[in-house]
Amino acid sequence: MALIVQKYGGTSVGTIERIKAVADRIIASREKGNQLVVVLSAMSGETNRLIGLASEITDRPSAREMDVLVSTGEQVTIALLSMALMSKGVPAKSYTGTQIKMLTDDAHSKARILDIQCEQMKQDLAEGTVIVVAGFQGVDEKGNITTLGRGGSDTTAVAMAAALKADECQIYTDVDGVYTTDPRVEPKARKLDRITFEEMLEMASLGSKVLQIRSVEFAGKYNVPLRVLSSFEEGEGVGTLITTEDNEMEQAVISGIAFNRDEAQLTISGVPDKPGVASDILGSITEANIEIDMIVQNVGDDGTTDFTFTVHRNDYKAALESLTKTGDVLGARKVYGSDSIVKLSLVGVGMRSHAGIASTMFAALAKEGINILMISTSEIKISVVVDEKYLELGVRTLHSAFGLETDGNLK
Ligand code: ADP
Ligand code: ASP
Ligand code: MG
Repeated sequence: MALIVQKYGGTSVGTIERIKAVADRIIASREKGNQLVVVLSAMSGETNRLIGLASEITDRPSAREMDVLVSTGEQVTIALLSMALMSKGVPAKSYTGTQIKMLTDDAHSKARILDIQCEQMKQDLAEGTVIVVAGFQGVDEKGNITTLGRGGSDTTAVAMAAALKADECQIYTDVDGVYTTDPRVEPKARKLDRITFEEMLEMASLGSKVLQIRSVEFAGKYNVPLRVLSSFEEGEGVGTLITTEDNEMEQAVISGIAFNRDEAQLTISGVPDKPGVASDILGSITEANIEIDMIVQNVGDDGTTDFTFTVHRNDYKAALESLTKTGDVLGARKVYGSDSIVKLSLVGVGMRSHAGIASTMFAALAKEGINILMISTSEIKISVVVDEKYLELGVRTLHSAFGLETDGNLK
């Protein structure tokens, strides 16, 4: 008998029909003798709808009340799925984050899980009950409802799997696995049978929202066998296994392409090139609680320097305001930016042992007339910032340049 944690995302529970289909899938797995813990998201669109309601009242809602509000979506689906299971004769019990004692810190809207009480769940499982848990939500020490950040149900599922020492954590979604890139942008994207935790973490961090970043971190840390599968596919697929690196894995040079539409770029030019300037500029941005992603500094031959960096698009206006103030103080020549840029990234552990990846990437983009605005590299990724109008063309160009529709090796 295996203990399986299954998570179903928003589209998988988006209608009553889909919820009934999920119930059938759970029953099929249970009939094979598996014990099941099921984690659910809200119906697709529901969390956005709730956020929209709040914005009709205020643009600065209390973080505590926001979590009370957005956590309601999951309470609906867990009750409905439990009813669907029971109506088919299968014992089921739903639990909210508070009921399951999913203890988190008190960082509303981005809380971290600290502890999960397993006794009650173990008892239910021993009695043959299917446990249905609300994803995305927890409770802090003082009993306040918290949430784990958008896409957080993935993390709930992995955390449950780690706490219960489950045999596998299965993430059911609307694609049948992790692809070389988002199949919505490149229809020639290829499904990967396996991907390492390290690469998946990089893909997620660089914008592939198929899994929440923290869920991959958690799975890697606690070695939770993690699989991404489709809830729309007939029968039992194999999906993509996220795993530690092993020698059996045929290692492609490039595993995938991620992109991020959520960034904006800012530049301050013509500031004095002397110690402390970087800290003045970037410090004022971080003081405004804005996270900086990529940073590039150019030194001019007139003793001045330019800084360009990226921030989340939601922070663009605030960052531009803060940078303009700093520019006035430092006597900058110009402060400007753009919120119509995207970041494209190539990811692959094979990069460590292969030269020439960057030059192939830049040449492929140049051939299509795509201008590169910024570049950043690390051991297993290369990212470029380009105008957002080049997103699709850029992704497809790189996908083909690196042979990703076949094997991810240089042509
Ligand atoms: P859920 O609601 O089930 O959590 P998400 O929308 O969060 O689903 O994640 C699934 C989506 O992730 C897919 O529909 C796909 O468009 C997108 N996606 C982005 N990058 C990838 C990738 N590399 N492989 C597969 N899907 C991807
Ligand atoms: N419902 C939440 C969201 O839309 C959590 C999740 O779906 O994972 O972000
Ligand atoms: Mg998701």
